[in-house]
Amino acid sequence: MKRIVIVGGGFSGVYAAQALERSLRGRDDTEILLFSRDNYFVFQPMLPEVISGGIGLTDVVSPLRRMLRRTHVQMREVESIDVSSQTITAAPGFRPRAHRVKYDHLILAPGTVTDFRGLPGLPEHALPFKDLGDALKVRSRVIQALEEADVEEDDPDLRRQLLTFVIAGGGFSGVEVAAELNDFVRHVARHYRRIDPRDIRVVLGGVAPAPWRSKEAEAALKGKRFSREVVNAAAEAALKDARPLSKNAYKVPLTKVLVRRAVEQAVTGKTA
Ligand SMILES: Cc1cc2nc3c(=O)[nH]c(=O)nc-3n(C[C@H](O)[C@H](O)[C@H](O)COP(=O)(O)OP(=O)(O)OC[C@H]3O[C@@H](n4cnc5c(N)ncnc54)[C@H](O)[C@@H]3O)c2cc1C
Repeated sequence: MKRIVIVGGGFSGVYAAQALERSLRGRDDTEILLFSRDNYFVFQPMLPEVISGGIGLTDVVSPLRRMLRRTHVQMREVESIDVSSQTITAAPGFRPRAHRVKYDHLILAPGTVTDFRGLPGLPEHALPFKDLGDALKVRSRVIQALEEADVEEDDPDLRRQLLTFVIAGGGFSGVEVAAELNDFVRHVARHYRRIDPRDIRVVLGGVAPAPWRSKEAEAALKGKRFSREVVNAAAEAALKDARPLSKNAYKVPLTKVLVRRAVEQAVTGKTA
């Protein structure tokens, strides 16, 4: 019996397994084994909607075993691969011992990690946005900020900080996140009696080339209620350094004067 091992249960791993299932149909001499950290597939393009609650949690995930009828799925993190002995070592589970599996063919599809290089401050202070857990954390942090802003009525500076949301990364995902967050925060803020919606700021820091040069990003921006200031900030901003002002808000110095002024006004309430 031959064994094909796939590492990763995202788009690449799942589609590779499905293609193999099709081409190996009717054959019982080859096993397909897929390792993934989770036993579900996440449809990442819809993750930003999880922030706003526009779609439910279960709408962005699918159980791997339901998608892959013939593939043997093992929910374990792969820790190392020895190509000379063609052996995968996966993390221990309940039993404290490494899990080793031999393979004949190997497909590596572990995806990517968020690249914080050249962006000091972000890995320490920003929330990453890549998987389901990240989307839930962002949503709960936004709600926590609104709750705090509602309580801190006698501290306008702190309230302004709490109501300033900076999205670092103006590529397509950043624009989507900014749009969903912007809609969500403005919608729910109406239920907080002590929050003035005019104090809410959503700032999109464009690390990537100006996002609206892509047609899709432009459509996302136009379709949402971004303020002129947000759009200007996104157009001009290049994030250089992020440091916390409080546990929930960050001051983000930006290269362009115009944007620095907009962001500092938003964060501190003072003109730069
Ligand atoms: C918010 C967001 C929105 C996006 N929107 C779009 C869009 O609209 N259009 C578009 O084309 N693309 C979009 N993308 C990008 C797209 O989702 C990715 O290009 C795609 O998911 C990459 O697929 P992948 O299989 O290579 O990696 P992933 O989907 O990241 O899957 C990798 C899998 O491998 C698992 N894994 C990693 N290491 C190990 C290990 N050591 N052991 C076991 N398992 C492991 C991970 O847990 C994960 O399940 C978006 C991405 C994000 C984050």
